[in-house]
Amino acid sequence: MSRVVVMKKKKNRFAEAPVFTEKKEYRPDGVKETGLAFVGHEISEDGNVMNQFLHYDQLYTIRHGRNSRFFKGLLDGKIWGTQCPKCGDTWVPVRSHCWNLDCNLEKTEWVEMPLTAKVHTWTIAGWSGRSSLRRLPIVLVYAVIGDSKVAIANELHGIDPWDVEFGMSLKIVFKPKEERIGAVTDFHFEPADDWGPSLMNGEKKRIKELVEPVYEWVKTLK
Ligand SMILES: [Zn+2]
Repeated sequence: MSRVVVMKKKKNRFAEAPVFTEKKEYRPDGVKETGLAFVGHEISEDGNVMNQFLHYDQLYTIRHGRNSRFFKGLLDGKIWGTQCPKCGDTWVPVRSHCWNLDCNLEKTEWVEMPLTAKVHTWTIAGWSGRSSLRRLPIVLVYAVIGDSKVAIANELHGIDPWDVEFGMSLKIVFKPKEERIGAVTDFHFEPADDWGPSLMNGEKKRIKELVEPVYEWVKTLK
């Protein structure tokens, strides 16, 4: 007796592989990947303890997939957001599908955002990794770009740390085109052109006293 097996045509799980036609390398001199390598060891005087040293570096690929236009937009000095065609909600950082239950995971569409934002919340960093030490104290804000429903983090420049306020108007400032790499560090926030600091008050004074030693310390960095 023979059995009949019906083969259903499988739905393609992945999109067509893209053809990449533009590639840019901006690797600093002397950076090369060797992967995981044992680079040495040490043994204690009594011979009872051994430590081994591993060096690990690797080339990483960040595949942005459906979110790619946001990162490509940074290269062009533009901020792209996504918007739900059903309810109109907008997001930067982007969402590929709507978050509202009634929209049933509706696929979002791309919208170019204005280069203006408002402070949602902020913090003042008085310490950092080696690469940012000289920029201390750093004002980090979560800011709402245009009418986005979510906030995006970035540095706020051109302001004394004690003058930042909730809801203050910001503009987005991009690095020169030749310095951009398609990362969020391609831009930072600055106060809007018509912004001016409010008068000194008790809370501002408190922050100023906390921050001043950081300024003094940074001056000692060579
Ligand atoms: Zn929606």
